Amino acid sequence: MIEKRDFYINGKWVAPAAANDCNVIDPSTEEVCAVISLGDQADTDAAVAAAKEAFKTWGFSSKAERLELIESILEIYNRRAEDLAQAMSIEMGAPIDLSRSSQVGAGSWHIKNFIRAFKDFEFEKTLGKHAPNDRLLYEPVGVTALITPWNWPMNQVTLKVVAAAAAGCTMVLKPSEVAPLSSIVWSEIMDEAGTPAGVYNMVNGDGVGVGSQLTSHPDVDMVSFTGSTRAGIAISKAAADTIKRVALELGGKGANILFEDADEKAVKRGVLHMMQNTGQSCNAPSRMLVQSSIYDRVVEEAAEVAGKVQVGPASEEGRHVGPVVNELQWNKIQDLIQKGVDEGARLVAGGTGRPDGLNKGYYVKPTVFADVTNDMTIGREEIFGPVLSIMKFDTEEEAVEIANDTVYGLTNYIQTQDGARANRVARQMRSGMVEMNGTSRAAGSPFGGYKQSGNGREGGILGIEDFLEVKAVSGWS
Ligand code: NAD
Repeated sequence: MIEKRDFYINGKWVAPAAANDCNVIDPSTEEVCAVISLGDQADTDAAVAAAKEAFKTWGFSSKAERLELIESILEIYNRRAEDLAQAMSIEMGAPIDLSRSSQVGAGSWHIKNFIRAFKDFEFEKTLGKHAPNDRLLYEPVGVTALITPWNWPMNQVTLKVVAAAAAGCTMVLKPSEVAPLSSIVWSEIMDEAGTPAGVYNMVNGDGVGVGSQLTSHPDVDMVSFTGSTRAGIAISKAAADTIKRVALELGGKGANILFEDADEKAVKRGVLHMMQNTGQSCNAPSRMLVQSSIYDRVVEEAAEVAGKVQVGPASEEGRHVGPVVNELQWNKIQDLIQKGVDEGARLVAGGTGRPDGLNKGYYVKPTVFADVTNDMTIGREEIFGPVLSIMKFDTEEEAVEIANDTVYGLTNYIQTQDGARANRVARQMRSGMVEMNGTSRAAGSPFGGYKQSGNGREGGILGIEDFLEVKAVSGWS
């Protein structure tokens, strides 16, 4: 069992100010796999003070210094890939092959994209021919609080930490208390990379403790948060008193629209995408909208694909889905599946209870409902588990209306061979991202949402810009 109670503050591992142990549970076994400590106000204050002091120099560091640091982080990250993969598998249940490929891979992909974007970025520009003597200086926002969830741990940590460092910000990372182990490895990487003392700090804690302390701290200039819309609202309110910049990456209820000319792999692709990471992705295509002429065939195929999805422990190699993250989520998902049945949706695969032979661990049956409508709970709420809702539509207009009829607006998906229709529908989607026919976002393309899915953009150059202020300097040539 891992015991790691220390926090990383001002370039050193330091003991918590007060004893406040917290067990980390392996969702594959329900056993305690680690003990960490949850910080209190004194730990938060120490980390923020270190970041504030370090900003006096890092805030004015050269592009070359920042680049050297980020390149060094990438090299060590790649070397520690297996440690990161193992940590994520234990803490949040990602099957080890998924951890090694997508979970770890997302982090290195983001760091590489940041390096590329950063090299090209000009921190000083003129306003152009109409104001040749006015200059725009892109400067770091200052001390930042970075608060991350448990579902794609390194994806989210790299998106925030590396962008903040590239911008010249200093930071306090508070990873999810549910999945803190990979961030401990990450902090070792930041240490070995030679990050100047105080530029990067990490304090473990929960939302009501360290989370709230950071979001209301007078010396924190910006909060970058990824997590639930519920916490995003609380954070926005807490940050308002000191007018902090707040960047939010929140929940989703993505529509995957299958028109009658969708390609032959679209159904399988949509179901497996939904089940990836055991359905615990903010951009999961959780509502499959299907044109009525192909509806019955699609429902049958989706049920068949879901029925073949293997479920098993995270430590097992091979292609399967793991458990969901914890008991709280397991119970919530069971309730929602039951609500689906009670509210009249047609269960065509899975259902409540554990899959056969998996009596210990937070395992959920890959589940598919047909005949779902947006007024049902499962049509509206983010389930965050391996549960797909299939809905029927007749016309393009109806598909757009159903897709947009949600408080969320993160990612929507379109499957059609008709390019004109794909572009028309994409423009009408009220979401930060639209992906067509199985393509995924290009390197450095921004990730973020409309409406209650948030207001920030992460990844690539727009991800770095989120951490920059713009200063207009006039009368200087
Ligand atoms: P969560 O909101 O419960 O917790 C996220 C983080 O916020 C944790 O570190 C938690 O300790 C902290 N926190 C909670 N309440 C807080 C408060 N009042 N003040 C400060 N910090 C607080 O979310 P979760 O269960 O860890 O993650 C799942 C959610 O994250 C889902 O809704 C998912 O859609 C969302 N998510 C969004 C994106 C995106 O980029 N849009 C990516 C991944 C996950």
